[in-house]
Amino acid sequence: MSVVRILLVEDDRSIANSVVEGLTAEGFSVDHAGTGAAALAATGYDMVLLDLGLPDMDGRDVCRQLRTRTSAPIIMLTARAEEFDRVLGLELGADDYITKPFSPREVVARIKSVVRRAALVSVDDRPLEVGSVVLDPVTRRVTAGGEPVSLTATEFDLLAHLMSNPGRVYSREQLLSEVWGYAAIVGTRTVDVHVAQVRSKLGDSCPIRTVRGVGYSAEASESS
Ligand code: CA
Repeated sequence: MSVVRILLVEDDRSIANSVVEGLTAEGFSVDHAGTGAAALAATGYDMVLLDLGLPDMDGRDVCRQLRTRTSAPIIMLTARAEEFDRVLGLELGADDYITKPFSPREVVARIKSVVRRAALVSVDDRPLEVGSVVLDPVTRRVTAGGEPVSLTATEFDLLAHLMSNPGRVYSREQLLSEVWGYAAIVGTRTVDVHVAQVRSKLGDSCPIRTVRGVGYSAEASESS
């Protein structure tokens, strides 16, 4: 795998230094931005670690704006005291969050999990097709009825996971552990939020079905 470039957006110098040190030791390439404005000016990264409390901008606004210009995974760094609404964060386009105080080791583990997920999907090069939705694991592009659809990294991975085994029913817990890779940390509501977002983006062509009392599966619509 080529070197993963990470953009770290963090104004606290001692936190930034320890994260940069930890990630660099693991072979990641890290660019550091101390403000929201610097983060929005940065380019060429594969993943973003984004502090919620920045001196010049609200981290939520930075997240929202970053999401309009990149599909790179965004992990929010949140202080316990800040009462961050996690579901809202995910709706803004963040893929994950880590609560402060954290150890550089925890950050590294979480990043590796996100990298592994992204790499897992591209092991098999065949485009996946269910109904009128086509998902290409190589280019990470999705079309519905031939029209391109823009998904976040996690939305893409969730849809790819379901579409790779059409008709198979997955529980929320299974999806958390197989798509997110760390079932214990985020709640199953996270799965519902992402499914709702994929549905709103794909509209009537969305192949994700709710299996009452169980979870979700991908199936072609039966309507003609
Ligand atoms: Ca801060």
